[in-house]
Amino acid sequence: MSEYTWIDHTYDVVVVGAGGAGLRAALGAAQSGLKTACISKVFPTRSHTVAAQGGISASLGNMGEDDWRWHMYDTVKGSDWLGDQDAIEYLCRNAPDAVYELEHWGVPFSRTEEGKIYQRAFGGMTRNFGEGPVQRTCAAADRTGHAILHTLYGQCVKEETEFFIEYFALDLIMDDDGVCRGITAWKLDDGTLHRFRAKSVILATGGYGRAYFSCTSAHTCTGDGNAMVLRAGLPLQDMEFVQFHPTGIYGAGVLITEGVRGEGGYLTNSEGERFMERYAPSAKDLASRDVVSRSMTVEIREGRGVGPKKDHIYLHLDHLDPDIIHKRLPGISESARVFAGVDVTRDPIPVLPTVHYNMGGIPTNYHGEVLTVNKQGEEITVPGLMAVGEAACVSVHGANRLGSNSLIDLVVFGRAAGLRVGDTVDAASSQPDLPKGAGDNTLARLDKYRNAKGKTPTAKLRDDMQRAMQENCAVFRTGEVMSEGVERIKQVYAGLPDIHVSDRTMVWNTDLMETLELDNLVAQAAVTVNGAVAREESRGAHAREDFADRDDENWMKHTLAWCDEAGNVRLGYRGVHTFTLSNDIAYIEPKARVY
Ligand SMILES: Cc1cc2nc3c(=O)[nH]c(=O)nc-3n(C[C@H](O)[C@H](O)[C@H](O)COP(=O)(O)OP(=O)(O)OC[C@H]3O[C@@H](n4cnc5c(N)ncnc54)[C@H](O)[C@@H]3O)c2cc1C
Repeated sequence: MSEYTWIDHTYDVVVVGAGGAGLRAALGAAQSGLKTACISKVFPTRSHTVAAQGGISASLGNMGEDDWRWHMYDTVKGSDWLGDQDAIEYLCRNAPDAVYELEHWGVPFSRTEEGKIYQRAFGGMTRNFGEGPVQRTCAAADRTGHAILHTLYGQCVKEETEFFIEYFALDLIMDDDGVCRGITAWKLDDGTLHRFRAKSVILATGGYGRAYFSCTSAHTCTGDGNAMVLRAGLPLQDMEFVQFHPTGIYGAGVLITEGVRGEGGYLTNSEGERFMERYAPSAKDLASRDVVSRSMTVEIREGRGVGPKKDHIYLHLDHLDPDIIHKRLPGISESARVFAGVDVTRDPIPVLPTVHYNMGGIPTNYHGEVLTVNKQGEEITVPGLMAVGEAACVSVHGANRLGSNSLIDLVVFGRAAGLRVGDTVDAASSQPDLPKGAGDNTLARLDKYRNAKGKTPTAKLRDDMQRAMQENCAVFRTGEVMSEGVERIKQVYAGLPDIHVSDRTMVWNTDLMETLELDNLVAQAAVTVNGAVAREESRGAHAREDFADRDDENWMKHTLAWCDEAGNVRLGYRGVHTFTLSNDIAYIEPKARVY
């Protein structure tokens, strides 16, 4: 092995990730007077949150009556009763305050005539427990994530959070008692290696959309934090639930926000029919994402797709007032022009369901503390380790996330994590030394790939994985197709020892970085497809043709999945929380989910 030396740092709190979740958590920790570091592999304002378009949900009631209990009902129903209702209550109840906080920090929300925050309709959002659409999604035109991320970054700088930018976090440092003691990272621009010792590590590393061939997420969305958790011998939760967004631009995968349908846009098939009226008679084009994605897939399968290959669907905004489009949807007009050559005021946009969001992730409670189970199967927290944002599975989105419920998840639970470290971490106390050999596992893994002399380029193996996931773990699933997926991912694992990395340096070695990201992705692909094949029911985004119904008796439980170095997956389960936090709302009993 080559010679490596560590540069050591000590903080009270280290946040890994500078998207909406990481920045909100770092801000809260710093405001609590804790010495806080925030590490990011890209410049903070380039995190994927910057791409969020449509908006952030909160029952402000600016466009008609609204209530956090209605928001809770919609979120529980959207989750197909897999969400933990204590966490969902916490989310919906705290949402309005979290949005006002953003407003006061300077997020430039679009405004109503009276100067209030503008809100638009989004899928699955209803008034009075399912009675009809409500405008609950607060928007800054169609650049809401951009506005939030820049504002939060400014606030973090003000609170003197220390940023470590273009540091690639590699692994958790765990001690023999299962306590998380810090993390290791590689500084990309000078090749140095770093150990961050901390009383609390908060993972906010985002989703792993890049396990799939076609996704709306950035190339950086490789779920690195999730993979670190698996390598530490801890489980991930509900990974089989992968959200396909109905309207990715055909061919490019770039997102066209659900806000388009919220503003009155609709889908048509080759016969010019508004087919969603058949599948979801009341919510129509604003049914939840899993329902719309499946309906589109059925239309295409039955020969009613559009285009020469009849393999996609049209999204119309050409009937909308060009002024509204210009004011409320400027970004997607540009995306449609650049990526589909379409002028949205005249022609429909060609769209296709595209991987968009990972409901699964690192299991946590509503404080952001990471959970696992003990030998008796009881929930326990992992000392020193927290997770927030898309990397985490709180679980508020359960089997299917409602549009605009992620941005609110980032800030509500980012804030909760900040409050929790404020309560539990003592800035005055000293920290024990790092355990002996801390970081050795990191060096072994890094060195192995840095010197990988096989014959298979990283890009080839990544392509194999992405195609396997796209073809064998998609919108519709069967046991047979997914079992083939399990085999295909095993073959990708078998290919790892033959991988070829050509750059042996440590400075800006993107070849090595992409290889480490692939290694992270493949572990998540393995737990996703193995969890999916085991779950013999249909729930939310997990739609099985061989088990078409939801089975609450046997499957109203969270999947926990562990993965060893060779890619062998072990599954366990954890009960869904069927209780609420207060007496202000009772547990919402399961029923059939129709829109
Ligand atoms: C195109 C698009 C549009 C969307 N629109 C909406 C919307 O309108 N409303 C809504 O609610 N949701 C929307 N979503 C979903 C939502 O934007 C995401 O779920 C959310 O932004 C994720 O935020 P995050 O903070 O968890 O992670 P991210 O924003 O993905 O940030 C991850 C951070 O982790 C860092 N990181 C990752 N790995 C490492 C590592 N190894 N070392 C160091 N740092 C690391 C990255 O540098 C980055 O800073 C959209 C998603 C997409 C893709």
